[in-house]
Amino acid sequence: KDVLSRNPIKRLEKDVADRIAAGEVILRPASVVKELLENSIDAHATQIEVSLLDGGLKTIKFRDNGDGIHPDDLTLLCERFATSKLTKYEDLLSLGTFGFRGEALASISFVSHLTVITMREKSDFAYQAYFENGQLVPSEKLGTANPKKCSGVKGTTFIVEDLFYNCPLRKKSLNSSKEEYRFIIDLLMKYSVRYPSVSFSCRRLENTKFDFFTPCVESELSSIGNVYGKEVTEELIEVASSTTSWSLHGYVTNANFSLRRSQFIFFVNGRLIEWQSLKRAISSLYSSLLPKGGYPFIYIDVVIDPRLIDVNVHPAKRQIYFMDEDNIVQTLLRSIEAKLKISVSSRHFQTVS
Ligand code: ADP
Ligand code: MG
Repeated sequence: KDVLSRNPIKRLEKDVADRIAAGEVILRPASVVKELLENSIDAHATQIEVSLLDGGLKTIKFRDNGDGIHPDDLTLLCERFATSKLTKYEDLLSLGTFGFRGEALASISFVSHLTVITMREKSDFAYQAYFENGQLVPSEKLGTANPKKCSGVKGTTFIVEDLFYNCPLRKKSLNSSKEEYRFIIDLLMKYSVRYPSVSFSCRRLENTKFDFFTPCVESELSSIGNVYGKEVTEELIEVASSTTSWSLHGYVTNANFSLRRSQFIFFVNGRLIEWQSLKRAISSLYSSLLPKGGYPFIYIDVVIDPRLIDVNVHPAKRQIYFMDEDNIVQTLLRSIEAKLKISVSSRHFQTVS
C-alpha cells in the first residue's frame, strides 16, 4: 500500500451534516413526541393529543391548544439554531423554558416530512406549512402556496410523516411499531404526572378510542392515581427537602408494597431525565427491604438553580450535568431511608404487577 496515499479532509455536504446532527436529537418516534411535548408546554398548552400510525413510524400527529405560531415566524420555524427562547449565551443560566437551542423542529424536519398547522388567539385564520430539511418547501415545488391560510382552532398541530425515510440504518435499528408505541405511552404517562394540569391523550390514528387519557387534575398525586393506579397512591410516602440552591419533592412507595417492574420518574426543572446514579442508589436501598423480584415506584421532582446544572451535555437533553449531584442524591436517600424505616415497622407485604 502506498504510504503516501490519503483520503483528503473534505467538508461534509450541509444536508448530510444536518441529518447526522438530527439523528442525535431524534432517536425514535418517542423523541419526536418528547420534543413536541416540551414545546407545547413552553407554549402554555393545557391539552395535548397524540395520534399515531404504526407506533409513530409512519405518522405522528400531535396537537396542542397552546399559543400558536405567528405566520411571520414560519420561515425560520424549522431552521437550525432559530429560537424565540434564547437570545444571548448568558440566558442559558436563567432559562425558564425547555427549549433554547432551536434544534428540535429543525432536526425533525431533516429526518421526516413535516406539516405544521397553527393558529394564534384572535386570529382569523390558521396557517398550514410544509417543511423539509429545515426550510419551507418552495411554493413552486408544492404547486400551492406555502404557508397557506386555512381554517382551524387555536393551537398547533404537527404532522410528522415517514420518520427516518432518509436514514435507512436508523430505521432498521428501531423496534416494532408496538414497542415504539409503548415508549410513547410511557413518556406521556410520566409527563402527565409532572403536569397534572395538562390533559394528555394518545390513540392509534385509525381508532377513535383513546389508549391513554388523563384529564386535567389538581395534583401530581391524583395524576399518579389515574395513570399508575389507585393501589400505588395508597402506598406512597411523600418526601421533600431543600437547600438554598435546590429543592425536591416527590412520592415513593413504602416498604410494604412492591411492583414487578421498577418505575422511576425523575424530573429536573420540569424536564424528564435519566438519572442513573440516583436510580442505582435508590434501587440498592429498596433491594434490602423489598422481597426478591419486587420493586418500588419513585417520582422525584427537583427544582434547582439553573446555574448549577448544564442541560447541554446530551443532545436530546436526557442527561444533565449537576454541580451538587452527590449532595442531592445523599440527602434524598437519607430522607427516603428514614421514612421507609417507619413503614417497615408495620410490615404486611403486597406485590402488584
Ligand atoms: P426551541 O424549543 O429550542 O426554541 P424548537 O425547534 O423546538 O426550538 O422550536 C422553535 C421555535 O418554534 C420555538 O422557539 C417556538 O417559538 C416555536 N414553537 C415550537 N413549537 C411550538 C408550539 N407547539 N407552539 C407555539 N410555538 C412553538
Ligand atoms: Mg423545543
